[in-house]
Amino acid sequence: MLIYPNEYFDKIDEITIEFLQKNKIKALILDMDNTLITINEQMPQNIEGWAKELKGQGVKLIIVSNSNKKSKLDNTASKIGVRYVKFAKKPLKCGLKKAMKILGEKPENIAVVGDQIFTDIIGGNRCKMKTILIDSLEKKDFWYTAWKRPIEDNIKRKIAKEKE
Ligand SMILES: [Mg+2]
Repeated sequence: MLIYPNEYFDKIDEITIEFLQKNKIKALILDMDNTLITINEQMPQNIEGWAKELKGQGVKLIIVSNSNKKSKLDNTASKIGVRYVKFAKKPLKCGLKKAMKILGEKPENIAVVGDQIFTDIIGGNRCKMKTILIDSLEKKDFWYTAWKRPIEDNIKRKIAKEKE
């Protein structure tokens, strides 16, 4: 099913090098808003350290965002030293495919990481990439994404149950 992620974690830094190696994931496509930075455009300290650690282990990272705000993307990408694709129109495939070309990896070796089922997860699944859902950095949400949260919570509960 297109709306189901392959994995779900509470926090992005629960994605470990061991997990990636086990699942043959060589590159991560990262969502920006509410995944890497808060609504106030702050990046939690642990995320910087996490990205540095994975890069040090040879994992390729890139940001793919539906946002078109260049300064916000520049700031976020430079903090973790990665490239980005903006205005990606997830869940459409175009932005994710562009990132795949930059990464130079096959879709099965790439995981899309994001806080939204209806953009990140569906987009990644449509591209036959792996998909990892994480909790939004902030519960407070834009009005146009808030309505989807109960559906996402339901899916998270189901995945957590399957893991037990
Ligand atoms: Mg997001």
